Amino acid sequence: MTVRTRFAPSPTGYLHLGGLRTALYCYLFAKQNKGKFILRIEDTDQEREVDGAIEMIYSSMRAAGLHYDEGPDVGGEYGPYIQTERKDIYLPYAMQLIESGHAYPCFCTVEELAERREAAAENGITFKYDKKCASIPKDEAKKRMASGEPYVIRQNMPIEGSSSYEDVLFGTVEVPNNELDDNVLIKQNGMPTYNFANVIDDHLMAITHVMRGSEYISSTPKYNLLYDAFGWERPIYIHLPVVMKDATRKLSKRYGDPSFEDLLDMGYVKDAIINFIALLGWNPGDNREFFTLDELVEAFSLEGLSKSPSIFNMDKLKWFNFEYIRNMPFANYLKQATPWFDKELQGKNIDYKRLAELTQTRTEVFNQLPEMIDFLAELPEYDIAFYTHKKMKTNSEISLTILKELIPVMEGIDDWSENTIHETLVNFIAEKGCKNGLVYWPLRIAMSGKLNTPGGAIEIAYLLGKNETLKRMNIGIDKLEN
Ligand code: GLU
Repeated sequence: MTVRTRFAPSPTGYLHLGGLRTALYCYLFAKQNKGKFILRIEDTDQEREVDGAIEMIYSSMRAAGLHYDEGPDVGGEYGPYIQTERKDIYLPYAMQLIESGHAYPCFCTVEELAERREAAAENGITFKYDKKCASIPKDEAKKRMASGEPYVIRQNMPIEGSSSYEDVLFGTVEVPNNELDDNVLIKQNGMPTYNFANVIDDHLMAITHVMRGSEYISSTPKYNLLYDAFGWERPIYIHLPVVMKDATRKLSKRYGDPSFEDLLDMGYVKDAIINFIALLGWNPGDNREFFTLDELVEAFSLEGLSKSPSIFNMDKLKWFNFEYIRNMPFANYLKQATPWFDKELQGKNIDYKRLAELTQTRTEVFNQLPEMIDFLAELPEYDIAFYTHKKMKTNSEISLTILKELIPVMEGIDDWSENTIHETLVNFIAEKGCKNGLVYWPLRIAMSGKLNTPGGAIEIAYLLGKNETLKRMNIGIDKLEN
């Protein structure tokens, strides 16, 4: 048996992180078993479709590195892979079910159904279709269908007994059949519903393992009844627990929780996100925390999946990201940091390579960079209280003296390199016989206007250049004198 898994998103917006995790697990499981991973677009509910969402799914999957073997934009023997392009495939299967008594056309109008739904609500019962049209004799029903009367096709659920299946993660799931609603399989406009298209496609695409969100656990018995009605083999089901924001609510875009694209835009590194997402509900069984995608393919196992909801801990993701940034090859870091440097420093003559060396080990998320380096573009307003530092034993008065004495010394530097600046300052300190901090602290404050900076006084002076350094030292002197 060739393992075939599918990721089947509906194009209703950005790829949310729960969806990304499903896609990732489907990918890992298929790759690990030398099987195939398929992307299928489930767009039969066109009212919910968001413009551009299909393209976004492709680009997100590409950005995540989850290459599918078959899918709308890559082809494959089981296509088309977009459900609306398969529209004509479904009706003959529904007709077959009508013949065998597993489905029936329903002519109840929207208004009638609304009335019955209301009545049910008034009596405090959950509305379930009452099978009114199931009793129409088949011949009559067919005549009415042929006459052009609007209808939907409903699944005819058994009223007795119960349906059960084994979920790999959740074990036996059993539902009394009389609780199952007669789902619409084909809508009035001829379009299948998710409930139907999903089953037909999983079968026709020879999907062996269905991995999806746990919200489908309780409707899966209905899908199984369809498999049984057709005499098809059911797939293996692995429902995945929800990803929670915290103990009380699901992760949700509606509450402003980030999507995969948002995280990328914020400057999270793809590999860090994937690594983190993999561990949301899966455990390698040891203490290992860092995995490349290929290592995940090796290590992943269904036994390591957890059925309790996992909590999306942003701080943990940040930590992963910090570790990934810290450990990435320098050239890679420089490349990814450059657009973030540009936000503040474009057109300024700043040595990005040096700046990258100074920031790589301090960056948790790339979007922190502009704020970290903004002082290089422009000296911020700052409080002269910054010149006072207990441990460095400096205060405003001492700082003023030091800055004044330093001006001619710095002016005398011809070759403005870190080495020369360093030597010059070391000599100055030695002559004065004072502590390093007494000189470096005021100098760095004057140049940056910030308490925390990437790099110290020497590096910042180098990055700013001689003119700007002297200009800022003079501003510092002015501030301290007034
Ligand atoms: N289209 C469904 C969704 O986006 C997929 C469910 C499934 O994988 O069967 O939730």
